Order: sequence, then C-alpha cells, then structure tokens
Amino acid sequence: MKQVLIVTGGSRGIGAATAKLAAERGYAVCVNYRHNQAAANAVVEAIAQAGGAAMVEDRPRAIAVAADVAVEGDVVRLFQTVDKQLGRVTALVNNAGILEQQRRVEDIDAARLSRVFAANVTGSFLCAREAIRRMSTRRGGAGGAIVNVSSVAARLGSPGEYVDYAAAKGAIDTLTIGLAKEVAAEGIRVNAVRPGFIYTDIHSSGGEPDRVERVKASVPLQRGGQAIEVAQAILWLLSAESAYTTGSFIDVAGGK
Ligand code: NAP
Repeated sequence: MKQVLIVTGGSRGIGAATAKLAAERGYAVCVNYRHNQAAANAVVEAIAQAGGAAMVEDRPRAIAVAADVAVEGDVVRLFQTVDKQLGRVTALVNNAGILEQQRRVEDIDAARLSRVFAANVTGSFLCAREAIRRMSTRRGGAGGAIVNVSSVAARLGSPGEYVDYAAAKGAIDTLTIGLAKEVAAEGIRVNAVRPGFIYTDIHSSGGEPDRVERVKASVPLQRGGQAIEVAQAILWLLSAESAYTTGSFIDVAGGK
C-alpha cells in the first residue's frame, strides 16, 4: 500500500529531517508549515531532487501546505488537501511545536499559556483526530501510525526556562498513552519520541540560539543531538519494524 505521511512543522529542524528521510524510504510526504514558505519549498525541492523527479505515478513525491495546527479550520483544510493531492494519509508525525522566551513561572501570563498550549497540545489533538478519521478500520480506513514529538522536558520540567512548554509536552505524553489504547484495535499505533538537546532553530525562540552548547556538558553522551538522529527514531516508529510497539516512548537524548 502507498504510504502517505503528514509531518507538521516539516519545514525546518526535526520535521524537515523527518520529511526528507521518509521520502527517501518511499513515503509521499506533506510538509506542513506555518509561516516560512521558502523553507517548506526548499524541503519539497530537496525531496524531488533526491528522488530524481518531482512526481511518482502521477502524484507528487512531496507537497508543502501552510496551516497553523492550532487553528481547527487550518487543520481540516490541511488534511483535505492531502486527500486530494497525495491520497489517504497512512502516517502522521505531530512535530510542530513552539516555546517562548525563557522565563520563570511567576512571569508567565495567560496569553502566553494559550499560545504554547494551542500550538503544542491542541494542534497535536486536532491533527490526530483528522488522521484517525481517515486511518481507523472502524471507519473503513486501512490503519496507520502516529508519532508525537514530545520532549525530555516532559520529565525534566525545564525550570527557569519554560515550565509551560514542559507541561505541554507532559500533555503530549498523556495523549500518546491514552490515544494508543483508544485506537489500538482499529489498526492505528501511537508512539512518541522525546528528544533532548537538538541543534535546531527552536532555541532562538527561547532567546538563546546557542543553548545546546551551554547545556551539552550535562548530557551523558557529552554532546547535543542532530535532527536526523531524531528522525531515524521517528521513522522506526512509523515503520512495520515497530509493529508490536504502541503507547511507547523513545528518548533521543544522549542519556539525559
Ligand atoms: P524548529 O526548528 O523551531 O521548527 C519548528 C517547525 O514547526 C517549523 O517548521 C515551523 O514552521 C513549525 N511550526 C511551529 N508552529 C507551528 C504551527 N502552529 N503550525 C504549523 N507549524 C508550526 O523546531 P524543532 O527544534 O525542529 O522542533 C520540532 C519538535 O521537536 C517540536 O515539537 C519541539 O518541541 C520538539 N523538540 C525539540 C527539541 C530541540 O532541542 N530542538 C527538543 C525536544 C523536543 P515555520 O517555519 O513556518 O514557522
């Protein structure tokens, strides 16, 4: 069966590495993004070049679709676009995520909490919902796999940096456990990766682009991680090699 993957936040960082690796392994890929169209187009272009052509059997190898996962109408349109252009989704990576400026809890306001929980938690729930409606054997689907991108922050708590973000990732862990059990008998597996300190742009949003350099000495493996190292764990969880794994977590965190 043709594998169709949606990677939310697939335009940069871990999502971009996942989109490219999945395309290499034969998935048709939807690269979702929020604002940075040039970055999303660059991922689609890289996939077309690596595959030797933009199309396979009259379907694109990859498409870029703008949608804010925190906005319900955007998510519905994202999945409908994939239905039309790539076919029924068989795999979802809930990767889009944000954090904000490093702050103590005593300085976090409700507006920030709404933004952080909307993008990280609401977005993952809405995308999972749309995926299940298409994958579930109960609804005539052929099954599928969902991988949520959580964080070791869910168990470390990110004190002094972003406890709000860590708490949102805690919610992603609980979503993973509950949803995995809810849809296990309908042909859908749900797992999560928990990256540690990975070299991507996300640390700039926290106000510290070189954060990984500062904290890497605290990692047992003594280094930060690369986006591709997270992507490889995600691809294993999407693949048939992990057919007996659901409701599970892979920490990609150098032992942190
Ligand atoms: P990144 O480099 O900042 O990239 C974030 C991606 O998400 C971009 O493609 C961005 O699109 C997209 N995005 C953000 N908000 C979105 C929204 N509301 N709707 C749709 N797309 C949205 O981040 P990253 O470091 O690769 O992080 C990816 C995931 O890994 C996140 O869930 C993050 O929490 C998690 N994680 C990262 C680390 C780390 O150290 N890097 C550690 C643990 C967990 P635009 O380019 O259009 O803005």
